[in-house]
Amino acid sequence: MKALVYNGPHDVSVNEVPDAKIERATDVLVKITSANICGSDLHMYEGRTDMESGRILGHENLGVVIEVGPAVDRVKVGDRVCLPFNIGCGFCANCEKGLTGYCLTVNPGSAGGAYGFAGMGPYSGGQAEYLRVPYGDFNCLVLPRDSEEKENDYVMLSDVFPTGYHATELAGVQSGDNVVIYGAGPVGLMAACAATLKGASQVMVVDTHKDRLQLAEKLGAIPIDDTEGDGVEKIMALTDGKGADCGCECVGYQCCNMHREEVPNLTMNNLVQTVKATGRIGVVGVFLPEDPGAADKLAKKGQIAFDFGQFWFKGQSMGTGQANVKAYNRKLSRLIEHDKVNPSWIVSHELPLADAPEAYANFNERKNGWTKVVLKPGK
Ligand code: NAD
Ligand code: ZN
Repeated sequence: MKALVYNGPHDVSVNEVPDAKIERATDVLVKITSANICGSDLHMYEGRTDMESGRILGHENLGVVIEVGPAVDRVKVGDRVCLPFNIGCGFCANCEKGLTGYCLTVNPGSAGGAYGFAGMGPYSGGQAEYLRVPYGDFNCLVLPRDSEEKENDYVMLSDVFPTGYHATELAGVQSGDNVVIYGAGPVGLMAACAATLKGASQVMVVDTHKDRLQLAEKLGAIPIDDTEGDGVEKIMALTDGKGADCGCECVGYQCCNMHREEVPNLTMNNLVQTVKATGRIGVVGVFLPEDPGAADKLAKKGQIAFDFGQFWFKGQSMGTGQANVKAYNRKLSRLIEHDKVNPSWIVSHELPLADAPEAYANFNERKNGWTKVVLKPGK
């Protein structure tokens, strides 16, 4: 089959690789029809992880079931399914509680499993013609009848829609709240969408890219361009000097964190400043635990400097980590089915798999107009 393979930093290619196949009785085999490129893929792409060369990338996948293992009895051949990026077993202590991002079976001793991701188990990604789905009965979200015509909406259930939603859960967004969101990438835009769905009174979205801020504005959020004046001052003015009720971090890794350890993290510090005393901060941006390229730089592995003193003094609290996609996606799927939300509004490019290397380069540069790429391996 054809698949997008990681060769090394800034080097991916579409190669002929052995077909994905059923390996265990509980597996499901899916023919991929949509596979997104995610901001998280860029951590591998830019060489910030210990990703082995030759691995297939892609954790935002949707497709049609073409084969099921002998122990699979819920999912059927022909079902159209969206695959949460977390791989869970369904029966460990964390999965039992809905914390499928932290499954204790699929990647023992670490932090959960995912398709095509460094440090999250040996699982291949879905930027390919076929994908093996472990524990298929548990990990396939069977989609409703309108899934073919709304494929670009439903594929967002694999990650960015539930992740944006998770950011607002971690931040404790309530109806009437004013909310500040750092990052207008796909995740930040989805967090703004989730905050709006929850009835936030004011959603302020901070970024440095005008095209992405325009999408936030389309949604009804207040765009704050950090290249034009002091975003922190603007947020304080918009909240009568009190700060927002809560905030979301949807940026993660920023160059200065890793290259110069004395430089504090911008978004975390800005959130501590712009969220009111006792407010909650939801951090879904990924701060990598290690930087393999750091040996020649000043970086310390995994240490992110931010103003903990001010955070403590304001009595703020914080929630962090991967979205437990499965905990949300049944309900979020219904919102799509009943046209309450159509997350495909973030899609800027729909491309064949062959164009993936170029798409990676453009998305990595955050080139104007490249917000979200959906690859179509069948085309
Ligand atoms: P992305 O990385 O393109 O989005 C980041 C956005 O932040 C960009 O638009 C960029 O311009 C903006 N930005 C950079 N520095 C900034 C700053 N100092 N202030 C304000 N904005 C700034 O793509 P994405 O897909 O939206 O991913 C965002 C983050 O979410 C990544 O770290 C990704 O790994 C992470 N993520 C986490 C989960 C999870 O489960 N927790 C899931 C998916 C993605
Ligand atoms: Zn993703």
